[in-house]
Amino acid sequence: MKAWKEGDYRLQQVISNTRLAPGAFLLKFRKQFDFSAGQIVALGVSTDIEPRFYSIASSEEDELISVLYTEKPDGKLTPMLSMLNPGNPILVSKPFGAFTSFKSEPVFVAAGTGVAPFISALLSNKVRGATLIHGAPYPEYFYFSDYLSEKLGRNYIQCCSRCMPGSHYVGRVTSYLLQWDELDPNRNYYLCGSTEMVVETRSLLISRGVPPDRINAEIYF
Ligand SMILES: Cc1cc2nc3c(=O)[nH]c(=O)nc-3n(C[C@H](O)[C@H](O)[C@H](O)COP(=O)(O)OP(=O)(O)OC[C@H]3O[C@@H](n4cnc5c(N)ncnc54)[C@H](O)[C@@H]3O)c2cc1C
Repeated sequence: MKAWKEGDYRLQQVISNTRLAPGAFLLKFRKQFDFSAGQIVALGVSTDIEPRFYSIASSEEDELISVLYTEKPDGKLTPMLSMLNPGNPILVSKPFGAFTSFKSEPVFVAAGTGVAPFISALLSNKVRGATLIHGAPYPEYFYFSDYLSEKLGRNYIQCCSRCMPGSHYVGRVTSYLLQWDELDPNRNYYLCGSTEMVVETRSLLISRGVPPDRINAEIYF
């Protein structure tokens, strides 16, 4: 979806736009169409700016759609998204995307807001036996950490790149995966984050014996 076309989107109202951490927000609006966990929506505040894509971070059963986003200070859309208040209008596309087939006992590897599709899959009870390895710079960027800790227990691993040693693994997800002694090449791996993170993680998994066809990815370019 490169431009807004009449019929591709609806004008909706923001229900809430909560700041979770400096520069990080959870935006909610009413669900107008069913979706599958892992899908995305295009968002905008006017048709003058091309649509930007956001993974849905809520349960398939929820009446509201949630989207996790970080503000890019020099970006076009996110500085405007961060100013939205309840009741403000927003352009929302129908859900789309094919990052939706999660096999059992998956290993989810996410950086930053890339955790969103996995939160949706877990909240929707689409997977069993999941492990989630999430990378963030500081503890406040481990979104939904209370829910994830309760749901996954020791299979929820936080990799905190700028934390002091303590309750987190200190380092990036790639360093964690490099030395992870429970890494099982027979599981299916699902990666979500920036191009750099996905490329680096994929190469590392292959170097540790994971067959390429067991590695799936959603790239936030
Ligand atoms: C499938 C998919 C899912 C995504 N899901 C999420 C999500 O759940 N949460 C989330 O936060 N983001 C997500 N993204 C990223 C999101 O779509 C936006 O790219 C992001 O929010 C930035 O939008 P923006 O308009 O604020 O910034 P943009 O205006 O797009 O700019 C982004 C950055 O690129 C730089 N830039 C822009 N134009 C140029 C240029 N011509 N040359 C060099 N640099 C340039 C800007 O300075 C800025 O730093 C997803 C992307 C994809 C493809």
